[in-house]
Amino acid sequence: MNQILTDSFGRNIEYLRLSLTDRCDLRCFYCMAEHMIFLPKKDLLSLEELGIVADAFIERGVRKIRLTGGEPLVRKDFLTLVKHLSNHLNAGRIDEIALTTNATQLHKFAKPLKDLGVKRINVSLDSLDPLAFNRITRGGNLTRVLEGIDAGLQAGLKLKINTVALKNDNADDIPNMVAWAHKRAMDMTLIEVMPMGDTGEDRFEQFIPLSEIRDILERRWALKDTAETTGGPARYVQIAETGGRLGFISPLTKNFCAGCNRVRITCTGKLYMCLGHGAHVDLRNAIRVGGSDALDNALDEAMINKPEKHDFEIRKTGNTSGTTRHMSVTGG
Ligand code: SAM
Ligand code: SF4
Repeated sequence: MNQILTDSFGRNIEYLRLSLTDRCDLRCFYCMAEHMIFLPKKDLLSLEELGIVADAFIERGVRKIRLTGGEPLVRKDFLTLVKHLSNHLNAGRIDEIALTTNATQLHKFAKPLKDLGVKRINVSLDSLDPLAFNRITRGGNLTRVLEGIDAGLQAGLKLKINTVALKNDNADDIPNMVAWAHKRAMDMTLIEVMPMGDTGEDRFEQFIPLSEIRDILERRWALKDTAETTGGPARYVQIAETGGRLGFISPLTKNFCAGCNRVRITCTGKLYMCLGHGAHVDLRNAIRVGGSDALDNALDEAMINKPEKHDFEIRKTGNTSGTTRHMSVTGG
């Protein structure tokens, strides 16, 4: 195997997030603009090229690959890429293929994904109230998503619910969502909204620190901090009354970059070394023009340039520090 990927701060990169598309069938108001302009399809890496990129990372020590987007399940024939990765899984070259989805199409794909070796899926869901869900997603149908979740559980997938905490839209409902998820044996993780891309909405009006959500939860339950970590940014608590686990991802209020083990690739082959920075390396050119050596060199260059940490900050209107890139472009 070639040298494993280690950045200039000594962090080993073992986790790749691969975006299959920037497109989506929802328009969550903290993620996308209402009238989002998507990348021309011709600019996208083919599924075969995405497989070549994944192979190069696996060769350099990546053990976990998460497919994301945009909405990964809307990419036509995406299962062919999952099949490709499944061969690596079966050969013991990677530990896990994971996926993040809004679950609108999960009723169709839960079983095939399980059959290809996917065990755990993150489902993003920000409300159990059909009207609030419809407002947050700008038109989404909650029933469809709940059907997808049921199909996932029936197929034997381990689901985790990811919820972005939103000051005016779900903060008070989060305890009910936690109870609902834990009753179905699903873990849940709460996420602070990050200033990524212009969505036409005021970030300051969306943002609520997770410390405030924790206060709301503690009015109902005793939260017990655990030392547990999955190698990611979440800090976990156990809730005795529900028997479930709850994660907190607080990029704005608790920086977690020291342990970062991941990089992200957009559907056009741009390798972003940090969610919160513009620094990137173009892998599409490397694959199409230079071949495998060029791809390898590009990965080395990326390691040298991986930033130490993000510098997200949400202050009052018009005074926020983040990226112009939407999360749906980088791959959440
Ligand atoms: N469409 C899929 C989904 O929603 O799960 C995958 C892509 S989505 C960009 C991945 C995750 O990013 C979702 O959990 C979503 O809630 C989160 N996300 C999007 N924009 C965000 C933002 N500005 N701040 C925090 N989380 C965000
Ligand atoms: Fe689509 Fe996911 Fe972004 Fe919502 S969060 S608009 S589901 S990509």
